[in-house]
Amino acid sequence: MSRTLLLKNATVVATMDDHGTEIRDGAVLIEGNRIRAVGPSHTLSREADETIDLSGHVLIPGLVNTHHHMFQSLTRALPAAQNAELFDWLDALFPVWANITPEMMTVSAQTAMAELMLSGCTTAADHAYFYVNGGRLEDNIEAASIMGLRYHGVRGAITLGKSQGGLPPDLVVEKDEDAVLKEMQRVVEAHHDASSDAMLQVALGPSSPFTVTPDLMRQSAVLARNLGVRLHTHTAENGKDLAFSQQRYGMTPAQFAEEMNWVGDDVWHAHCVHLDDHGIQLFGRTGTGVAHCPCSNMRLASGHAPIRRMLDNGVRVGLGVDGSASNDGNDLLGEARQAMLVARVRDEDPAALSAREALRLATRGGAEVLGRGDHLGRIQAGYCADLVAWKLDDIAFAGGLSDPLAALLFCAPRRVSLSIVNGKTVVRDGQLTTVELPRLVERHNQLSRILIDGD
Ligand SMILES: [Zn+2]
Repeated sequence: MSRTLLLKNATVVATMDDHGTEIRDGAVLIEGNRIRAVGPSHTLSREADETIDLSGHVLIPGLVNTHHHMFQSLTRALPAAQNAELFDWLDALFPVWANITPEMMTVSAQTAMAELMLSGCTTAADHAYFYVNGGRLEDNIEAASIMGLRYHGVRGAITLGKSQGGLPPDLVVEKDEDAVLKEMQRVVEAHHDASSDAMLQVALGPSSPFTVTPDLMRQSAVLARNLGVRLHTHTAENGKDLAFSQQRYGMTPAQFAEEMNWVGDDVWHAHCVHLDDHGIQLFGRTGTGVAHCPCSNMRLASGHAPIRRMLDNGVRVGLGVDGSASNDGNDLLGEARQAMLVARVRDEDPAALSAREALRLATRGGAEVLGRGDHLGRIQAGYCADLVAWKLDDIAFAGGLSDPLAALLFCAPRRVSLSIVNGKTVVRDGQLTTVELPRLVERHNQLSRILIDGD
């Protein structure tokens, strides 16, 4: 029989089940990597191999990040990219990223994961589209296995250089699209785990309509469906993105997605700030998912995505911190707070998105977008044991204990106290158990300096 772990006496357990059940003085019994039972503490008093007393804690399902570019942690707050919109921001960063090494990929991914995990994230999708100097998706996969984070590696690509009408400089693109497709197939066959408790899945993700050819969009869609994996890209991010789509293809981004066969419940699109009504209805009807990235959308002045309208039209929505160079952080709980605030500003409606709705997007919403809704994103018997707890004596909660769950978003505490991923404790007493954080940060900063300054 598998090892058992009992979490008990939690001030409140938010299950995110279909009824939105919240249990006061709650307990969760974990057996191996699965949740076996959830209920009031007095009903789950059986002996376990290990018991953790969560008195004075709020316990929720692990947060799910649906869009990221982890390598960008190396170039946060870069002066040349601080005040630029998306296209100019990429213009400033592409030449810097041209010198990224495989070690930089691994260490920056570990750094991004560390910060994500300390903010409550237990599953993250990483849209890894940048391959230079021998880098491979394996560089990031290695980071996830060290950190103990549930990882969805998106094998992305940029192939359309400036000389072909694309945005990136020619020297950073993968020119041979047939080779890109072969590599996509290789990483899926080597690493994708289709099982319900998979710690590692692979998806395919040409970066955006302005960085790859329509042919690669179409062919990667065929390949993904042959291989049984998901598709991910950037869509309708800002005004220039819309203009590019109109000028080059004579279509809106949603029309382009449909034309490329990039709609369906196996596809999720990042940003969708300027998804029009046709697009919202199309995505709702087809089960197409959206990764909402409010911080990045504000940071790059891209606009505010119509999240309330998407939810009202049945669109699946999850949250993403986006790349660390346009956020410029990896704070997923903070992203959920921003989602709540931005929805209100956009619609000038204080009820546009409640704290509980934002938490739902951050947990089961994200799990559904990644195709894991049957096994992740809830505290429910049979689900994978991914859970996070915050300690309520943190200064951020002071005075906010009349509703600890809502206070998570309204008061924004900095760090989780406990994080369990797949039944394993990866954060205990606010500290990562899988890596020595100061050493990781020091190495990351050395590599960042080498990348930016060359020394
Ligand atoms: Zn992105």
